[in-house]
Amino acid sequence: MTSALLPTYARAPIAFERGEGAWLVARGGERYLDFGAGIAVNALGHAHPHLVAALTEQAGKLWHTSNLFEIPDGERLGQRLVDATFADVVFFTNSGAEANEAAIKMARKYHAAEGHPERYRIITFEGAFHGRTLATIAAGGQQKYIEGFGPKVDGFDQVPTGDFEALEAAIGPETAALMIEPIQGEGGVRVIPHADLRRLRALCDARGLLLIMDEVQTGVGRTGRLFAHEWSGIAPDIMSAAKGIGGGFPLGVCLATRAAARGMTAGTHGTTFGGNPLAMAVGNAVLDVVLADGFLDHVQQVGLVLKQKLAGLKDRHPQVFSEIRGEGLMLGLKLGVLNTDFAAAARSEHLLVIPAGDNVVRLLPPLIVTEADVAAAVERLEATASALATSQRGAAE
Ligand SMILES: *Cc1c(COP(=O)(O)O)cnc(C)c1O
Repeated sequence: MTSALLPTYARAPIAFERGEGAWLVARGGERYLDFGAGIAVNALGHAHPHLVAALTEQAGKLWHTSNLFEIPDGERLGQRLVDATFADVVFFTNSGAEANEAAIKMARKYHAAEGHPERYRIITFEGAFHGRTLATIAAGGQQKYIEGFGPKVDGFDQVPTGDFEALEAAIGPETAALMIEPIQGEGGVRVIPHADLRRLRALCDARGLLLIMDEVQTGVGRTGRLFAHEWSGIAPDIMSAAKGIGGGFPLGVCLATRAAARGMTAGTHGTTFGGNPLAMAVGNAVLDVVLADGFLDHVQQVGLVLKQKLAGLKDRHPQVFSEIRGEGLMLGLKLGVLNTDFAAAARSEHLLVIPAGDNVVRLLPPLIVTEADVAAAVERLEATASALATSQRGAAE
């Protein structure tokens, strides 16, 4: 079929019509268990009544006014994020890449304000993903995303994760900051050890560098804490979040300490849509649920149940599953079969999972999944593994 859409995505041939909790209903009525959540976006599942009410109520009142005027719900959401995190100030965006752009600009401007405009370079880590704008593809450092798009944006130096010798060697008089995902998402659910994060914090303090955490995928409860860096006991200077924070409404945010944000004075940055009243109504509604007593405990508990069941699955199908990794409801299965084949086979079992780098499929269910949903997903993963093993045997004969 020819399409008017630019063919930058190889789309699966399914269109969904509606959703309920962790389930999606396709045109024609078939039900799929959604363990991808629109790439960790639908944190509260589909059609959550509190989000639907917040959005529809706001939609009848006011959509957009621009950032030339005060937006009370934005003040409120900002204050709630400040109260719940290390941050003193926030800047709302429409996406993760824009939140990272704000973080990168802020780190550079900080050093400029300190009298060191020559300190503009940011060290990032192999396997990273920070978005698809020109600066964030340079930050991510993946050749397949950079090639053909002209000169790479200057100012990013990449080192292997966990190699502190290489990291120390990469720090120079022009270095402004380190930027890291506490768990690499697109890179294949690769967890940065908590001890390494603490070491990065100490290194930044010793060398006068800012620590930027990209929590676009790990944030807003995904790992069982509000933000994943909390598990390590350290705090960044600047942090980006997006994906889950709008529960499906396009919303991102860059958070920072007042010190790190000192260069971002009036007129230094902007956005037309970022933080508009619709987004702020939904963002506040998401936080109502995620910050409620017991919600993050639920994520931890159901994440643990899922991880335990996956361990059993791996024991029964060692030729399909080679490793289970991740935290909370951000889990990765490293596979002995091609991950895109696995995702397609799981789709035949009416289970949605998401391929990632390092031949991993990600399980990123809505944070509201029940233990019954988890049991159903594991049954479907089991069926997928069996089907793939049978087809492999068939091909070998
Ligand atoms: C998805 C993602 C981004 C980019 O977010 P967009 O909303 O697609 O721009 C950046 N960083 C990480 C860690 C992500 O997972």
